[in-house]
Amino acid sequence: MKSRYLNTTALLVISMSLSSPLPAAEQGWWMREPIRWVQTNLRETDAALEPQKFVAQVADFDANVLLMALGGISAFYPSNVQFHYVSPYIPKGHDTFGEVLALAHRRRIRIIGRFDFSKTHKDAYAAHPEWFFKKSDGEPAIYNGLYQTCINGAWYREKAPEILREALTRYDVDGLFFNMFSNPASDYSGRPLGICHCDNCKRLFRARFHRDLPDQPDADYRQFLHDAGVAESEMIRNIMREIRPGAALVGTSPEIGDMVFSESNTAVKRPLPLWPYASSDNVNRARNTWPDKMAINQCMSFVDYAWRFAMVPQPEIRTRLWQNVANGGAAAINVHGTLEQADRSALETARPILRWLKEHESFYSGQYPEARVLLLGGGSRGFGPENAYRGMFRILTEDHIPFGVVDNTEWIGKRDADLVIATGQIPEELEPYIRNGGRLLIASSTPPPMDMGKVVKLWHDPDGAYFRIRDKNLFPSLRDTDVTMMYGDYLEIDAKGPLTFIPPSMYGPPELVHVDWKDTEAPGLILKQFGKGEVAWLPWNLGALYYLHSSDAHFRIIHDLIDHLLPNGRQLITNAHSLVEVTLMKQRDRHLVQMVNVSGHSITGYFDPVPMKDIEVKVRGGYRSATAVRSGIELPVSHSGEYSAFVVPTLTEYEIVELR
Ligand SMILES: [Zn+2]
Repeated sequence: MKSRYLNTTALLVISMSLSSPLPAAEQGWWMREPIRWVQTNLRETDAALEPQKFVAQVADFDANVLLMALGGISAFYPSNVQFHYVSPYIPKGHDTFGEVLALAHRRRIRIIGRFDFSKTHKDAYAAHPEWFFKKSDGEPAIYNGLYQTCINGAWYREKAPEILREALTRYDVDGLFFNMFSNPASDYSGRPLGICHCDNCKRLFRARFHRDLPDQPDADYRQFLHDAGVAESEMIRNIMREIRPGAALVGTSPEIGDMVFSESNTAVKRPLPLWPYASSDNVNRARNTWPDKMAINQCMSFVDYAWRFAMVPQPEIRTRLWQNVANGGAAAINVHGTLEQADRSALETARPILRWLKEHESFYSGQYPEARVLLLGGGSRGFGPENAYRGMFRILTEDHIPFGVVDNTEWIGKRDADLVIATGQIPEELEPYIRNGGRLLIASSTPPPMDMGKVVKLWHDPDGAYFRIRDKNLFPSLRDTDVTMMYGDYLEIDAKGPLTFIPPSMYGPPELVHVDWKDTEAPGLILKQFGKGEVAWLPWNLGALYYLHSSDAHFRIIHDLIDHLLPNGRQLITNAHSLVEVTLMKQRDRHLVQMVNVSGHSITGYFDPVPMKDIEVKVRGGYRSATAVRSGIELPVSHSGEYSAFVVPTLTEYEIVELR
């Protein structure tokens, strides 16, 4: 991926701390205040709710931000905009949204109004079919009686601003959230909708690309849709700035919104394994990629969209909430309907956590990541394949390396990074970072842009191939291991290295296993200096292998390489169990070490974590005091070299240690 956001001139910017990129006075409330967020996805029948009781329930839950339906598919207030369907369940003479907002504000609960302009009702379609999504057969896309609108039509472009102006003028909202912000590829039941063939889409696509709409989405079409979403987002942002400049924009793309919105969720048809770091992944990525925006990662309470009233395991809710705050994000949970649930287990699980976070809220605003190791993002949002990225995410987590996930290169020149780790393509902007003394560790068969040697050949899924560990000084933790497995893609390079390739050989019958092994000089690792920096390239997908097979040797290769690439040592060293996540954050004049115990996760289940004892932690820096806030105890601090050391006597689910 080339220069997606920034050119290399950013390197000339004087290095500055990641903390507080904006003065406090210029930051929105979402960056200054602790956030305990609950989203109630209200049904139109819930417009009949009793505002007094509803707000009392939210307050009793200790949430201080409520995301609540405002308009779009169903208005929860008496809208006067033509074709804006008003829920018939609003009691006569009442204004459900307005009454909730007034009561909530009196209790210092902020309100985010929710809009969904992706669908509306038949009367609008009858009057203006040109506003709507048109399938390739010319028919509208109808789901449970609602008509899919088109992002390029006047419902989005003209009626939505009219509705927003009405709502923003009437209500002093603290933010707006937008759901389903484009033309979706499929409906709620997963049926593909294809490409919209409305006259607007046809005309606009032809004007820009000089051809007809494609049959299937291609790169041009994806850009076309993306840009339509951006144009809509910018229009909304401008209206908000004009009428409610202090309100947050949520649910659009992160570039435009004030908060980076994500969900930790499950789905019955999603392939296993589960991703137990879902919340850490989302929040870490958001706070490190967009440090001046707040991360709202919602713990979705339910199992899947078809079962919105069936809850996920209680320890899963707890894990996600602690992961959210340990990575500097808001505590956020979603339920469908009001807080009166058919299965109350999710809310009752979250309740004591929100209570505790409220009682200790000075810790939960203004946190900034302090990690000096960065991992380039993976999957559709980042630089490489999802499996490889997740495997590396696991290794760094299990090895207790404080790390930040970045989906862009905007940090270059602004943030001190000792080491960058990548599992896919390398952006060219990194080359000057390396030459200026940066370190880069790559585990990927995709060649980086810098000259690492001539490509000899690509090996694909070589059954029975290995790497030999030749240099035990570089790999001290592999002294009892001479070979390790290789599978997936390996790019053979004309170079020398401390790991060498053993090509496929016989693996059966037992009498003949590998008797024909032939060692080669082909490298499984290439180390090369560039200027003041160094690149270590494993030209194979170690991360993807680790994600599925968790080989000790693969873990240790990365563990030892990180030590090699950090000549001044690690930021944090601990004997914590591999299933204890550790984060390092800065907050005003103190540092925070947070721990989340995920030892309760197994296969497809979440259970109470196994309590951990006597966790020794060494953090670089001269701290005088360490307080285990959750345990409520002062920890003795000792010093050795550049490190301050303390011991956490017991970790149950979560701990936050304040360092001063
Ligand atoms: Zn269209």
